[in-house]
This record gives sequence, structure tokens and C-alpha cells, in this order.
Amino acid sequence: MRKSQDDTKKIIEGGYSFSQNGNKKKNSVIKRWAVLGGFFFILNICFIIGICFNRRVQGPKDKAVMVQGAENEAGHAELDKEQSGSKVSKKDKKDKVDKQTDKQHQTSKKDNVNKRVYLTFDDGPSKNTEKVLDILKEYDVHATFFVIGKEDDFSKSMYKRIVEEGHTLGMHSYSHKYNEIYESKKAFFQDYRKIKKLLYDVTGVRPVYYRFPGGTSNTISKVSMKSLASGLTKRGSVYFDWNAMSGDATGKDLTKKQMINNVLKDVEIHNTSVVLMHDASEKDKTVEMLPDLLKKLKKMKVDILPIDGDTPLVQHVKVENK
Ligand code: ZN
Repeated sequence: MRKSQDDTKKIIEGGYSFSQNGNKKKNSVIKRWAVLGGFFFILNICFIIGICFNRRVQGPKDKAVMVQGAENEAGHAELDKEQSGSKVSKKDKKDKVDKQTDKQHQTSKKDNVNKRVYLTFDDGPSKNTEKVLDILKEYDVHATFFVIGKEDDFSKSMYKRIVEEGHTLGMHSYSHKYNEIYESKKAFFQDYRKIKKLLYDVTGVRPVYYRFPGGTSNTISKVSMKSLASGLTKRGSVYFDWNAMSGDATGKDLTKKQMINNVLKDVEIHNTSVVLMHDASEKDKTVEMLPDLLKKLKKMKVDILPIDGDTPLVQHVKVENK
């Protein structure tokens, strides 16, 4: 009986120990789950914090994207405006262009630094050539003289002086007789050779530039001006007409002021102006107005230059180069 009591005790104890062992196991499982739960809980919190932080960082970016979007919209609006421009009346478009041109014009008016003015004197040498040379010297300006053929000593001294003082000596035919030089191609080039030889013999400089009497746009020539111009180009000469003029050969009795204004008006509208004037013996008024013209051009701060290889071609009738 004692044994059975012991056994019972043992069994009970055993049961107890068993149940104690079971509880221990249970506890450790619970602990494990608790640790795991805690770990996941912390992980979750980190994740949530992470998301929030990320959002806060991304926030301004999103805003930037939105702003950009707004700009794009504005851009599209502009584009739409431009595209719908076709619907805008031609007048509005023209006004816009006019305003732009005005603006450019105002800028060039304010700043004439890039404007180039080439003063040219035709029909010399004469007594007036000397006066013109003196005035140009006084104002420290160089010009171009398209001369005709004269073989007296004074005329030869003028050819020389033109070259020596840094001006460009150009040809304007030997005879300057329209009915002779424009009679035939042969006659024209005979005359051309004559003036070219004379200027070279006197100055030692081969003349390059040529101005047709009456310009390439003259209506007197019996020969096509295009064929003469082409012939000149083939012979290595470069011809210049003009796009500005004082009006000293119009036959009208213009005042000095009118002549100056004629030139300035043309200079205003061109970036490169080749100004037609004359230094023949009867052109006293050209000499008289020249100092005032130079003063005004200098005030405009334009470049006053002699024609050279850098001068943009100003030609009424054009031909292909060579
Ligand atoms: Zn002439």
C-alpha cells in the first residue's frame, strides 16, 4: 500500500513534473512568439516611419514636377497661341514683325558701329579732286575715286595722290563717252584696257575696281550690260554700282542740306552703303557739302572706308563670279 502510495505520489509528482515540464515548454513558445511579435512590431514601425520619411523627402520633388507640369502647360499654351497664330489676322502678325524690325532699327540707330559707308567720287580728276582730297585728309577719312582717262600732269598727279594717301583708285572708263564705249563689246573692252594701262603706268598699282558710266542699270548701252559685267569679271575686275546717292548728278539744283539728307537717308537703311558722288570740275557744291556730311557721318559712328576686297558687292545687275 505504501508502495502504491509512493507510486501514486510518484505518478502525481511525475504528472506534476510532467505538467511542470509542459508549462515550461509552453512558456518558452510564448516567449518566442512574443519576441518574434515584438520583432515584427518594431519592423512594422520602422517600415511606417520609413514610408513617412520617404514621403516627406519626395514631397518637394512632387511639387517640382507639378511646377514643371505647369510650365509645360504654359509652354503648350504659348505653342497653342503660336499655332493658333494662323488664325490671328495677318495685320497682327505684320505688327509683330514691324515692332521687331523697329526694335532692331532702333538698336542699329543707337549703335551704328557695324554700319559701313563707302564714299565714291566719279568723273575726276579735276580741280575739285584736289579739294576733295584735302577735306578727306582733314577728316582722316578714306574714299574711292572712279576716275576717267586724262594724261596731263595735273591729272596724273591726282591719280598718284589718290593712291599715296590711301584711297582706292578705281576705273570709270577712259573716254566716259557713252556712245563710244557702249557701241560694242569690242569698243568697251578697248576702252577698259586703255584706262587700266594708264592708271597702272602712272601709279604702279593695278586697278581692280570698275564703275560703269551710268552704272550697270543704264539704259543707254547697245550691248547687254550683263555681258559687259560678265566680261569684266572674267578679266579679274570687280564692278560696283551704288545704293546711296547725294543727288549731285540728278540735274536738279539741290541745296547742300538736301544733298546731305539724301545721303543720310540712304545710309540709315543700309548696313553697307556705297555712296555715289562726283568730283568733276562743275561739282563745286559736292565739295562744299562734304565737310558737313563727314561731320554727320562721324557723329553717327559709322565706319567710313575705301572699297577693298572686304566690301560687300553693291551691283544693280549681277553676274555669276567667273
Ligand atoms: Zn560718270
